[in-house]
Amino acid sequence: MKNVLHIGFDDTDSLKGSCTTHLATLIIQEIFDQITFLDFPNLIRLNPNIPYKTRGNGAVALRIKGEEKDLEYCKEIVINKVKNLSEVDDENTNPGIAFVENEVPKEIVAHSKRAMWDVISIKEAEEFSSFSNVEVIKFKLGRGIIGALGAIGNPLKDDFTYEHLSYREPKNFGTKRLVDSESIYFADKETPLTFNNIDYEYNSIMILPRGADPVFTGIRGETVEAVRKAYSLISPLEELPMQMVFRTNQHTNQHFTKQFSINELKPYISAIVDADVTNKPHYIEGSHLIFSVEDSTGKIDCAAYEPTKRFRGQLSKLLIGDKITVFGGIRPAEEKHQMTINIERLKINELVKKNKFENPFCSNCQSRLKSAGKNKGYKCPKCSTKYRELQPNEIEIPRELTIGEYLPPMIAQRHLTKPKVRGNRDNSSTQKQIKEINTILAALVEN
Ligand code: ATP
Repeated sequence: MKNVLHIGFDDTDSLKGSCTTHLATLIIQEIFDQITFLDFPNLIRLNPNIPYKTRGNGAVALRIKGEEKDLEYCKEIVINKVKNLSEVDDENTNPGIAFVENEVPKEIVAHSKRAMWDVISIKEAEEFSSFSNVEVIKFKLGRGIIGALGAIGNPLKDDFTYEHLSYREPKNFGTKRLVDSESIYFADKETPLTFNNIDYEYNSIMILPRGADPVFTGIRGETVEAVRKAYSLISPLEELPMQMVFRTNQHTNQHFTKQFSINELKPYISAIVDADVTNKPHYIEGSHLIFSVEDSTGKIDCAAYEPTKRFRGQLSKLLIGDKITVFGGIRPAEEKHQMTINIERLKINELVKKNKFENPFCSNCQSRLKSAGKNKGYKCPKCSTKYRELQPNEIEIPRELTIGEYLPPMIAQRHLTKPKVRGNRDNSSTQKQIKEINTILAALVEN
């Protein structure tokens, strides 16, 4: 298809304000009448374990089609908006834009796959500007080009979900989000195809962020219809001037695709590791749970931190010899600890038997025997019969864990974590027609 433009941008926000999806929505509002969207805006979460992220390491891609002059106009709007609205005064905000015309090169698709688990340098990403149909624009360090190209290179052909986002009036940024919370419980019950609205285990509403960013609600679901319906059932107590729906790789586990042996692990990657438990899990200061695992290549510590709540209690029941698969981010060694896998998810593959030893019974009077002293066998406390050769009975105690997958509670899960409720669901075959996408986007732009 000719006259297609893929637009990616990232690293526009800081913890003090803004949000890359908000900027995307402002851009969409401005360009919508000029061009046709080939997809919903894409919100692509990349490796959540890299140190540069603000929150969830999200980048945005817009995929549009139009006359050449209209595409040029769109480029200008994107450059101006990123330049003028990014939080560039923040030291850690280093915006980047990427434009790719027509076909996305397979090398950028490969970059995107790698950006899900690895750490990529700005220089590596900048090399894509040598392709004739690729343009990258950096502000300050321009680290955002890594995410911008990462977003463009992920066409969301595999499993995906949707997120509906609503945005606040600027005068309300930084204030408490006021909403009729009953309406959120109601919306949750009425829309079975939305998920992660409420963590019932910890009675916590999940759709309202807490930071100074412009987002009021973020509703996640399997279909556009479901997330829009849930939003329509919620009663906010403030004016919400903008909304948008993003198609996203959130809640698909897409960052866990690569298996590593322990000696291959390096800081900040997202890794899958098959290993055996080698010491009994124990709590350290701060109520974090630590244990070590090994495979044929080495040994490493694993950690489940305090915010993962009951997840720690479950993992504390692991025993030496249990065979597990750990899914986690690699924390570098520091003064007080060695390199560690921060556990995001864990699969138990095999459990060792847990045994206890009990004194046997007297064959004469059926009473429980007592020890007759070290290496002296047993003696019956009732009929005084002595048993010199008898061995203790070995009893198997049921394990408190079962084979299968363990996840932290919803309040402690990552954006990319596939929640249990999604089960085996895979939306890869449910893409919408371009006409329908543009009709829905038109309604969202009008708010
Ligand atoms: P938000 O989720 O609120 O939009 P964020 O958590 O996405 O914010 P950013 O401000 O976008 O945080 O910062 C993430 C930075 O990390 C960006 O500059 C992005 O280009 C870069 N980045 C993303 N993935 C990788 C990767 N795999 N390797 C190296 N850098 C990366």
